[in-house]
Amino acid sequence: MQDDAEKNQKEKKSILDDILGNAIASTKKHEETNAGLETKKCKSCGAARPSDTDLKYCDFCENQFY
Ligand SMILES: [Zn+2]
Repeated sequence: MQDDAEKNQKEKKSILDDILGNAIASTKKHEETNAGLETKKCKSCGAARPSDTDLKYCDFCENQFY
């Protein structure tokens, strides 16, 4: 019985590790996807436009984003 309990403990830990690993992996994937969708780059000078602003013109060269 003792052995079973220890085995269960180990299985639970490894399941938890899997869940954590998946969560980290999916968080990373989510971040990458968001970055691709939300970060616009200036077509003229290549500067990144911050995704949390309403800039219509590039800060650096004043090229229009839209
Ligand atoms: Zn620019």
